[in-house]
Amino acid sequence: MAVVLLNEQRTAVCDHARRMVADGLVVGTSGNVSARAGEYVAVTPTGVDYGSLRPDDIPVVALDGSVVDGSLRPTSELPMHLAVYREAEDPDGAPVTAVVHTHSVHATAVSTLVDEVPPVHYILATLGPSVRVAPYATYGTTELAERMLAALDGRRGCLLGNHGTVTYGDGLDAAYHRAQQLEWACRLWLLARSAGTPRVLPPAEVEHVVDRLRGYGQPGAR
Ligand code: 13P
Ligand code: ZN
Repeated sequence: MAVVLLNEQRTAVCDHARRMVADGLVVGTSGNVSARAGEYVAVTPTGVDYGSLRPDDIPVVALDGSVVDGSLRPTSELPMHLAVYREAEDPDGAPVTAVVHTHSVHATAVSTLVDEVPPVHYILATLGPSVRVAPYATYGTTELAERMLAALDGRRGCLLGNHGTVTYGDGLDAAYHRAQQLEWACRLWLLARSAGTPRVLPPAEVEHVVDRLRGYGQPGAR
């Protein structure tokens, strides 16, 4: 078996998997994260407690799903992660080098209620002109991966119906940050909805913010 190191990506995968638990985006061994370098992907193993994970434990797979390094079985959601790397296109053409899948509770609650996340806050425009909910399919299946890809078309994240969230980015910090913002916006909508009928932003304003966000932050920073 070829030895494929991906040390930087394995460390980032390990750190972000632990962070998902600490930040309350998953409980137990739910969720999974991955990071790509060239033709290889470092990804969380299936069913392993994140507290005990070390970078050396992180499996490395090729884009066809074959394990090229590591002794643990990769996540059951490998079809989803690989589908993103093979097919997803960032709306601005940014590289797609990291994927985060969570079961964050407010986003998952919203996935049981609607077909798109109601645009209650401009921050949702960081993910695209809308955030779709992929229709439910059994975890770990290619059917789920296909439905996720359709929901991601032109977007950097989506909800998985009655399941959770998927976000991607150029690096795990970007993908993870999007998962946090998605959870925050879903929580906001549920809170507002429990108190009344939330006003939503018109589609034209969301499009305007999508455009404006291209200039957000420090010059040269992603
Ligand atoms: P894994 O432990 O196989 O990564 O599964 C967790 C999960 O969230 C499945 O959807
Ligand atoms: Zn899941």
